[in-house]
Parts: sequence; C-alpha cells; structure tokens
Amino acid sequence: MVTGNARVSFRAGETIMRQGDAGDYAYIIESGRVEIILEKPDGRRQCIGTRGCNTMIGEMALVDAAPRTATVRAVEDCTLLEISKEEFSRRLDHADPVLRMTAQVILNRYRDTLARAEITGPEPDEPAEAREVSYAERKDVIESVRLTREFRDALQSGQLSLHYQPIVEVATGAIAGFEALMRWEHAARGFIPPAIFVPLAETSGLIVEASRWVLRESCDALKRIEARSGRRDFFMSVNFSSADFYSPGFADDFQSTVRQSALEPSQIHVEITERLLLDQPDLARTTLNRLHDAGARIAIDDFGTGYSSLSYLHSFPIDVLKIDRSFIAAMTQDARSLELIRSIIGLGRNLKIKVIAEGVEEHEEALALARLGCDQAQGYYFARPMPEQRVTQLVLEGLRSAGSSPDRSASRV
Ligand code: C2E
Ligand code: CA
Ligand code: CA
Repeated sequence: MVTGNARVSFRAGETIMRQGDAGDYAYIIESGRVEIILEKPDGRRQCIGTRGCNTMIGEMALVDAAPRTATVRAVEDCTLLEISKEEFSRRLDHADPVLRMTAQVILNRYRDTLARAEITGPEPDEPAEAREVSYAERKDVIESVRLTREFRDALQSGQLSLHYQPIVEVATGAIAGFEALMRWEHAARGFIPPAIFVPLAETSGLIVEASRWVLRESCDALKRIEARSGRRDFFMSVNFSSADFYSPGFADDFQSTVRQSALEPSQIHVEITERLLLDQPDLARTTLNRLHDAGARIAIDDFGTGYSSLSYLHSFPIDVLKIDRSFIAAMTQDARSLELIRSIIGLGRNLKIKVIAEGVEEHEEALALARLGCDQAQGYYFARPMPEQRVTQLVLEGLRSAGSSPDRSASRV
C-alpha cells in the first residue's frame, strides 16, 4: 500500500479493510473497484457486491463505532480518499438532526440487507450503488471531501497566503489597522474564495491549524510593516471560528504567539460572530475574558445579522462592533437601514464600543457614515484586500485619501 496525504492507493488483490478490525476511516473510491466480502463463522467467504468510482466504503463502522462488518479487497488498482473517524463524527454532529436520523435508518436497512445476504447470497444487481453514485454527484459530496483534502495539503505545504484590507478612520481617511483575510490560489483550479473553503475548513477541523497560521503570519506581517514604516499604532484584525474556541489550549497558544511577535496585545483584534456567543456562551465568556485580560481587543463581526438580543453586549468583553455590509449597501436607499446604522453608532458611543462599518463601496456611503459619526470603515471604496507588499507601500505613501475632511477621505486608494 502506498500512503499519500490522506489519499491512499491499493494494488489489485490487496485488502483494504478486514472484517472485525476497528474502523478508523471511511473511504471514497476515487478510481478503481473493490469487492465486499463477508467472512462467515464457518470460514466461508462470500462476495456480496462490488463498489466502483464515487462510492463510499467503511462508513458503517464509523457511524456505529463498531468493528468492520465486512472485508473489502481491491479488484483493480484503487485510489481512495480517507475520511477519518474524527472528521466523520464532526460532520455528523454538524448535520441536521433529521439527516442524522436518516443516515442511521439507511445504515440499519443496509445492515438488514447484509444479514439477509448471509442467508440467501448476493442480490443480483446493484441498485444501492447506483443510488449512491447519483447521491454523491447531486450533493457535491465528493467535491467537498476532495477540496477539504486539498486544503489540508495547501495548509501544510505553504500554499495559503494572506491579504490585508486597510481599515480607515472615517473622519480623516487615515489607516488605523488591517483585517487579515486568507487566500488560496489552487495550483489547478485557480483562486478559491474563502466563502467556499472556510466552511470546509470549519467542518473538517482544519480551521484550527489554519487560524494558528493566520495569527502567526499576520503578527509577523504587522511587525514588518512597523519596521518599514516606523509606525507603531496599527492594529491587526484576525478572524476566528467557534472550532478555534473549542480547541484545547487556544487561549494559551494565542497569548504565546502574540508574546513572540513582540506586538502589544492591544494591537490584535479577535473577530468573532454573534453566533459563537449565543451557541456556547460559557465557553465564549471564559475564553474571551482570558484574551481580553491579556490585552487583546474583541470585535463582533457581521454585527446585526445574528440574533437581535443585545444583552450579550454587557456580559462579554466587547471592544468593537463591525456593522455588516448588507446594512451599508442598503443605507443610501433604505431609511430603515440608515436608522439602524445610526442606532448602532449611538449604542457604541454609549457603551464605549468602537464601531466599524464594513463593505463601504460608494462615496455617498462614506459621507453618510462621516455625518453619523462612525469611527472607522472598511470597504472597496477605501482599499481592497491586498498583499503585504502593497499594504506597506500604501502605508509609506499614506492613503491618497488621507486628509481632514470626509470629502477627502472619500477618495479611492
Ligand atoms: P468577513 O470576515 O466578513 O470579511 C470581509 C469580507 O468582505 C472579505 O471577503 C472582504 O474581501 C470582503 N469585502 C471587503 N470590502 C468589501 C466591499 O466593499 N464590498 C464587498 N462586497 N465585499 C467586501 P473574503 O476575503 O472573500 O472573505 C469572506 C469571508 O471568509 C470572511 O468574511 C470571513 O468570514 C471568512 N474568512 C476569510 N479569511 C478568514 C480567516 O483567516 N479565518 C476565518 N475563520 N475566516 C476567514
Ligand atoms: Ca471578519
Ligand atoms: Ca464581516
């Protein structure tokens, strides 16, 4: 057997899994064909079917946390994509309860079929496999597993990079800080948007390693920007997911990374969504208090899109609210959005929480935000996310828009 990175190959005739063994992996067959063999108590072996490209094997032992119920052997040279027990249960945990139950029911029925096969022999055709293939194709199951694998490779082989989007003072247009945004340039498929790969990284748990890397790399980048510009007052905003908060040692790792970077902890903004506070309030409170006590600033991302309960604003250590870009996009046409933004800015002022407007694309939006007294803003209008080198250049030149009036701050970079 040749082991690649979570992609495994078997030669024709090799055994892939043995009945009775512990099941640590399920596999999706990427190429080749396997046969499924029941080993009977009397020592006889019975082939109960074959499986080909785009089908799954070995999932039963993972769902049941039980030994393998059959032996699987390659009948042709095969390439398989591994899905670990941990990933499987994480995906199952994230699934809708009805879907989870459906999976269990399907497996029970399959188990019945297996039991009958022990008595009556194999079924003549393979309708189950045919269904499986069309399901996999319809649901992009294979694609998401494959892309998750490739994301892992990209993470481990240094193919990910970061872009930094300037966040500016609305009143002056001066750069106040940056948001670090992950970028993945796939060797064959080109640019893959974070909206595609971040959710995959979250369900697979790879986001934890990715976030560690983002924090380290963005701290280093800020240190280099400081060294080249002589400025020491920028902040770096880093996105974190709930999986980061669940991972053991997160707060310790965070602190030691920031310490090693020699930045002031207050220069790091931890961006999280409201969802995290509402799903796991106790865990979130403990971890956020630790980060906040260590000096980091806590920012609520996409503010306004989650639950409307604002009670958490005083029970968590929150320093920044980032108004979701959907409100900004609507503010010049829709009076209610404008009023909502005005309220959030007022709320921020009363609670001493800084407010950042996201997704500012238009001159009118920048002007309106200045009139409303919004602290800071971020958006294509001011600057797009860009590589470190361009950010450094921009800092050295000063934003072309830098000036004292919102009129001037409203010019593009
Ligand atoms: P986000 O945290 O809300 O990040 C802001 C997104 O808005 C970025 O998209 C940015 O490029 C985009 N954006 C900025 N200004 C404008 C604008 O004026 N108009 C429009 N339409 N969009 C604007 P991006 O980089 O594609 O990232 C999408 C999402 O992926 C992020 O949304 C965040 O949820 C996630 N993400 C990106 N990098 C990371 C990361 O390092 N860790 C985690 N956990 N999530 C990340
Ligand atoms: Ca963000
Ligand atoms: Ca956001």
